[in-house]
Amino acid sequence: MQEQQNEMLKGIILKGIGGFYYVKHEDSIYECKARGIFKKRKITPLVGDRVSISIQSEDEKLGVIEEIHPRKLEMIRPSVANVDQAVIVFSVKSPDPNINLMDKLLAMCEYMGLNAVLCFNKFDLLKDDEFDHFYSMYENAGYKVLKTSTKINHGVDDLITVLKDKISVFAGPSGVGKSSLLNNVQPGLKLKTGALSDKIKRGKHTTRHSELIELATGGWVVDTPGFTSLDINYIELAELDTLFREFRDFNNQCRFNNCMHISEPGCAVIEALDEGDIHPSRYESYKYFYNQITEHRRYKSW
Ligand code: GDP
Ligand code: ZN
Repeated sequence: MQEQQNEMLKGIILKGIGGFYYVKHEDSIYECKARGIFKKRKITPLVGDRVSISIQSEDEKLGVIEEIHPRKLEMIRPSVANVDQAVIVFSVKSPDPNINLMDKLLAMCEYMGLNAVLCFNKFDLLKDDEFDHFYSMYENAGYKVLKTSTKINHGVDDLITVLKDKISVFAGPSGVGKSSLLNNVQPGLKLKTGALSDKIKRGKHTTRHSELIELATGGWVVDTPGFTSLDINYIELAELDTLFREFRDFNNQCRFNNCMHISEPGCAVIEALDEGDIHPSRYESYKYFYNQITEHRRYKSW
């Protein structure tokens, strides 16, 4: 006979496989089915969901998901709920940081309403202060910026602090040191990369579900990197300026309220650029995305 227990426990879904969800409550992980009502309502529990479960067997650690608590945010790729932040990793050298891609990732985060933290890794490869202007440029734009090196174990404590008690997804190009960083945070922790995209390329319909990895130092990391493919073309042009954090201080002060900040007279964004309040490199990225989206629209309307 199953144990009678009416008590509901709160937990977080770490993993989902074939209709089973692995819910962590305190020090235990319960294998749970979801109530049929979710399926009827077309709600799929997601990794990262905060849930209430009823216990079917405490000995066997079996339960049933009774309730899914409201989601703060739902990410599609990877499919995870309640992600608190993206840690966007670039290396200062080998490979050199692709600033355009960095700004694109930041804009995507703003678009999703996801807080972003920037992490410049391979700090040990710098001989001088050549990157100081980049760090300060993103700090001035309103981002938290970490400088790390897994080689000389620099800044890893800062990363641990940033990850504490939050659900984080890592993003950034390959080879910048994401896995090495996570390994320094917690030995054995690696991101699952390569394999997934290879499978997709070969056309196999292998769905690889993401998992949350709980850190001993607090917090959870999504075990697959985010934003593997990026498409900014569906972003509305009128919305683009709001995706550059530091533009928000100015973009409502232009003479024309539909100003795109390209060549209009009385543009407060261009004024801020001229006065050094907006970094030229950030403005270049804005213009680049603006042109890209415009081109895309033109092409589509043919
Ligand atoms: P990922 O693809 O972003 O996960 O990158 P990896 O963690 O696999 O690292 C790619 C390469 O960069 C490996 O050869 C690492 O040894 C190296 N690497 C990682 N972190 C650092 C660092 O802080 N300094 C230096 N010099 N090399 C690093
Ligand atoms: Zn303007």
